Amino acid sequence: MQTPRIHLVGAGSGDPELLTLKAARLIQLADVIVHDRLVGDGVLSLAQERCAMHDVGKTPGRHRITQDGINELLASLARPDRIVVRLKGGDPLIFGRGGEEAAFLLKRGIDVQIIPGITAASGCAAALGLPLTHRGVATSVRFVTGHCRADLPLDFDWVSLADPQTTLVFYMGLARIGEIARQLVLHGLPPLTAVAAISKGTTTKQELIRSRLLTVGADSRIHALPSPTLFIIGPIVDAIADFRPALPNELAALMHPIAGHA
Ligand code: SAH
Repeated sequence: MQTPRIHLVGAGSGDPELLTLKAARLIQLADVIVHDRLVGDGVLSLAQERCAMHDVGKTPGRHRITQDGINELLASLARPDRIVVRLKGGDPLIFGRGGEEAAFLLKRGIDVQIIPGITAASGCAAALGLPLTHRGVATSVRFVTGHCRADLPLDFDWVSLADPQTTLVFYMGLARIGEIARQLVLHGLPPLTAVAAISKGTTTKQELIRSRLLTVGADSRIHALPSPTLFIIGPIVDAIADFRPALPNELAALMHPIAGHA
């Protein structure tokens, strides 16, 4: 008898056309899909009508179903005669708890196949025409989580983060971007270091706000940036016009020639 299997699939950063061929094929074949809030309708609409959908999405601060609950749900759905797809925004192994789910399932004797996806940093940067690394400007890039329990201070190695040659990409940073920016300046980054806040990147609702470390906390409050938002920090953001001299609204239109996507 075949071993039951879960396909742990990256849905990419929003635009369904950024799915891998493997991801698209599995979504089309799936009998069951268990998905997060970040996975848009454009991607989900590729599934067959008879596909059973489980939305286990979490809104920030309001957990609909616990991680343990998701693990148990996946284990209970896995059967040798079923195609079960666990669909996660971006890449399942970047801030997606994909590792935890895979480890849990493997311990239960369930096979896990992982299909990578375009992570938000890559999708958003490409949508803006912004290189994350660039010779002479940014020699490395770091993906950092801005999330931590609301009652705890952010616990990072600020000295190593405050490197002007590294592009910093903060995931889940919306609630604490002011504090993050303050710490980066305290640890040596120039206060006028450029910041791009991209909301709903690679979807038809993509928005871009340009700011500086000094002002990004206030700017993100004033503009009431919606979730999900990604912050890209570093001198490379100042060079944005060198790569694609278009306005953010025009960019969104350019990236989405097909109506109804994402
Ligand atoms: N596994 C996902 C990340 C999950 S963490 C990935 O690889 O992309 C969730 C965070 O990702 C959000 O808080 C936001 O910072 C970022 N994010 C995901 N999709 C995004 C999008 N389309 N636009 C902007 N930020 C996004």
